[in-house]
This record gives sequence, structure tokens and C-alpha cells, in this order.
Amino acid sequence: MIPLVSKLPKTGTTIFTTMSALAAETGAINLSQGFPDFDCDPALTAMVNAAMQSGLNQYAPMAGHLGLREQIAAKTERMHGAVYNPDTEITITAGGTQAIFTAICAAIRPNDEVIIFEPAYDCYAPAIKLMGGVVKSLELEFPDYRIPWHLVKRLINGKTKMIILNSPHNPTATILTRQDIDELAALVKDKDILILSDEVYEHIIYDGARHESMARYAALRERSFIVASFGKLLHATGWKIGYCLAPAWLMQEFRKIHQYMVFSVNTPMQAGIAGYIKNEHVYTGLAPLFGQKRDYFRQGLASTPFEILPCYGSYFQSVTYKQISDKADVDFALQLTKEYGVATIPVSAFYTKPNHNNVIRFCFAKKQETLDRAIDRLLKVTPQSI
Ligand code: PMP
Repeated sequence: MIPLVSKLPKTGTTIFTTMSALAAETGAINLSQGFPDFDCDPALTAMVNAAMQSGLNQYAPMAGHLGLREQIAAKTERMHGAVYNPDTEITITAGGTQAIFTAICAAIRPNDEVIIFEPAYDCYAPAIKLMGGVVKSLELEFPDYRIPWHLVKRLINGKTKMIILNSPHNPTATILTRQDIDELAALVKDKDILILSDEVYEHIIYDGARHESMARYAALRERSFIVASFGKLLHATGWKIGYCLAPAWLMQEFRKIHQYMVFSVNTPMQAGIAGYIKNEHVYTGLAPLFGQKRDYFRQGLASTPFEILPCYGSYFQSVTYKQISDKADVDFALQLTKEYGVATIPVSAFYTKPNHNNVIRFCFAKKQETLDRAIDRLLKVTPQSI
């Protein structure tokens, strides 16, 4: 055997893979991984098919299909009043994940420090470490999961290169407020700190709240990579298409990596999406669709012994289970799957340090009948039963 020193020695199978596999094996209802169990719009697949049949099957331009970049520019201007140049400031990627990896790869050098907030989506820290960067994680304050800005201030020093934000937030379903934006702007002012803003749930935001995109604020926009996902927008997570917005000086470096990482993303889907998102309802319709599911699911959970945490955005609902068990959340989630037939994600999986808040996350991006079946099963869970 040729010796190979692992670059990510502590990385094993993720909890998402484990829980989805267990759900399949046991026949449990899978509310673990974040994907819809309903199909995308047939009008969209028809547009993609039409693109294929019309011969759009060769490489797209490196930065992405121009028509799609133009539609993204129009959407961003409409939503946030921000003008991004499709030629120099928008790149189509293989999902939000590749955009995040590429941005980190372009910006982070050995010993650069990157601030992330835990619970954190799982792809940030490994990318930082692979670049030789240092992960500086701060915990969001339980149970409200707000950003402790006074601690961020203490953590910032000459080596701080980037802050990674995620709003609406996976897994806690919190959103950035105007006050957060002001705190952030004050902290980075006059400092060489970049922002990587993971906004893949940007259109899934409830109760009339506004998505506080970095794109809205010139002082933040000029130092930000903003990441979006068509998987989330179009109920097509398996297509793995997303995009990155950044000012030209940052996008230039982003594209240097992107062109060798994937060169370009599949053409017919880009062409199909370009036509489809001309209709504004595609994205304005997401909040009412998932808002109804959120309310329905929360109503069902209200009769169970789970304690429901707030949900302001995303399609995740977290709960605590203190009345049911004092088990660690991984054990609790495994038992809930095996004995009650509902698969969830233990939120400790989103922390690097041990976490004992006893919180699990459900994904409610599911058909009504799936939610009904899951609630029926969860109603059987009684205090002290696990
Ligand atoms: N960021 C967050 C917070 C996510 O939840 C996800 C998907 N689960 C991604 C990024 C990755 O998006 P994509 O599937 O488009 O790669």
C-alpha cells in the first residue's frame, strides 16, 4: 500500500448519509436530510428537455449560460436592489456546495482564520482546513440561536480573513436581522475581512420578514461571496446547480479556481432554468408554500411532548426532547428512527465540540400525506418513553 496521510483524518460518514440509509433500511419516514419528497414543476423539466432536444448539449461557457446569468442579475436587482454584472460578477456552480468550496479555496491561505457559527452547515470547516486555514467557531446562543456579536469582536484579529454567515439558517431556522447587519458592518469596517454568505434558503422566509442579503448593503456587498442554490429554489436538489455572486475583483479569483474544478456546469439544465425563472412566481411562491407546511407541521407537533423551537426561515424545524429523554441526541435520533419510524438529524452533528442541548431537526419540505404520517407516529412518543 502506498502511504497516504489523510487530509481530513477525522472525517467519516456524515450523519446525513447515516440517517438517510437507516430510514431506507427501516422504512422510516425520512425527515432527516433537507430535500423535498415532491417533484419539481413539469414545466421546468419540459424546458430542460426542450433545451436538450434543441442541441444544447455541449460545454456551457466557463462562467455559466449567459441567459441564466442575466436572469439571476434581474432577479437579484428585483429582490435586493443590487446590480451584479452577468459578465464579471455571477458564476454558475455545481450547487451551493461547490460555490462555498471554491470561494474558500480562492480566499483562504495557510493560517488565515475564518469565523463560523455553530451549529454550522457541515461543508464549511473541511474546506477551510483543506486550505490550511484555521476554523474559529463560535456558538450561537441557545435557545434563540442569535449571533453573540460581542464575542465575534473579541475573536477578530489581524489573521481574521473571513466570516461565514448563513441566513436563513440550517439547522436552526433563524434569520439575520437588520441589527445583525449593523453589528456585522461595524465590525468589518476598515478591516480586510471577507464575508461568505450562504443564502441558499433566501426565498424560504416567513411571516413577512425580509431576507437580509449581503447584496442589499453596499459596504457588505463589496467584500462578499454570496452563495445560492437552484436545488432549494426549484425543488430539484439532485440537479446540483447553484451560483455565486461577488464583486468583479473577488469573482476573478473565484473563476480561476472554478475553471479547474469543474470548468462549467451542465448546459441544458442551465438553459431550462433560465427560461423558467423569468416567472417571478417561481421564487415568490416558495415562502407561502413552505409557510403553510411549517404551520401545519408545528400544529401537529404541538400535541407531542417535543418542545418546538422558533422557525423564521428555511424548511427545517428544530425541537428539544427534554421531556422525553435525557439521551444524547444521536442515540435519541437513532431510537426514534428504529422504534417510531421517523428519521431526523441530531443537531450536535453541526458542532465541532460536544453539545448537550438535546435538539433534533426535522425537514418539513414534504407532501401533506408524509407530514400526516410522520405526525401520527410522533404522537405515539410519550414523556420518558425513549
Ligand atoms: N448551504 C446550506 C446551509 C445547505 O443546507 C445546503 C444544502 N443542504 C447547501 C449549502 C448546499 O446546497 P447544494 O445542494 O446546492 O449544494
